This record gives sequence, C-alpha cells and structure tokens, in this order.
Amino acid sequence: MPETDAYIGLGSNLADPLSQLAGAITRLAALPYTQLVAQSPFYASRPVGPQDQPDFVNGAVLLRTALGPLDLLDALQHIERAHQRERIQRWGPRTLDLDLLLYGNHHIDDDRLTVPHVELANRDFVLQPLLDLTPTLILPDGRPVSELRQSCPDNALRRLDPVPGSLASMGPGD
Ligand code: AMP
Repeated sequence: MPETDAYIGLGSNLADPLSQLAGAITRLAALPYTQLVAQSPFYASRPVGPQDQPDFVNGAVLLRTALGPLDLLDALQHIERAHQRERIQRWGPRTLDLDLLLYGNHHIDDDRLTVPHVELANRDFVLQPLLDLTPTLILPDGRPVSELRQSCPDNALRRLDPVPGSLASMGPGD
C-alpha cells in the first residue's frame, strides 16, 4: 500500500492539556497502517478568539500512513471524542483539537476536509511545530513554511520543556 506523510496539529486548553496531547499522540502512534515518525516540541499560545479562556498547548506530529485522508480524519475525530471533546463555542476552550494539516502534497477540497488546513498559514502555533518537524517544508502551492512563519500573526508562542519520555525529549541514540 502506498504511504503518505501526514502532518497532524494538536491543541488543548482544558483538563491538563499536556496529558491530553501526550495521550492523543499515543493513540495516533497506535493507528492501523500508520507510523509515528516524529513529534514536535509543545508550545503555549494565547487563544484565538475569546480571550476569557486558558492559554492553549499546541504541537504537531508527522505520521507515515497508508490510511486515506478521510479515513485519517475519521480516526482523528474518533480520538477527539475519546477525549470527551465538547464543542460549546466557536474558538472556545476544548480538551483536544486534532487537525489534518498536510497530507503529502495533496490539495483536498471535500465537504468534510480541506487540506492544507485553511488556517495553517495564519497560525504561528501551527507553523512553528511544522518547522520543528521539517525545517525545509514546502506547502503544495510552493510556499515555504519558513517564510509563512516570519509573516504570520503573533500569538505569544512560548516553547515548553520537553515531556519526559516523549520522542521530542529524546536525543540521538536514545
Ligand atoms: P474544528 O474542530 O473547529 O477544527 O473543526 C472541525 C470540523 O472541520 C469538522 O467538521 C471537520 O470535518 C472539518 N475539517 C475540514 N478540514 C479539516 C482538516 N484539515 N482537519 C480537521 N478537520 C477538518
């Protein structure tokens, strides 16, 4: 089966965000026909939209998967539901948000799925983890992620200390 590199964005600002993200990554690594290739550091960022909510913790992972994009979206939504995600308010607080940011070099324009993710280019908390994973990453339309990162709005991104035991905390040879 052909395999594709898929970048997944993760975010949480409720119910111990660091463990929400760590738990989600464990579940992503266990998906069928899928390997977890790399995990970015985690970042704290100010919320987009309503400000009367906790800061978010964000990160991204690179998967290599033989799942098709809609099957992968189903899997992401299944994991969100397993984390008791509730949608109360647009851009409001959430236990877990998983976005399919990039799926190989594909443009996807489906009722349920837009890839690259529509807000990707405007969010430092998405672009920075993508750059950490792949510094030379280029979007399907040819724009380098490094250039988008320089010109996107500032959400007061702060890099957090590595979570013990995570891929991001491991050095060469671990
Ligand atoms: P949100 O939870 O606010 O990120 O939005 C979830 C909705 O966005 C779901 O209905 C998805 O079907 C839709 N969606 C469209 N494109 C994407 C994408 N690239 N990744 C995740 N959800 C997406």
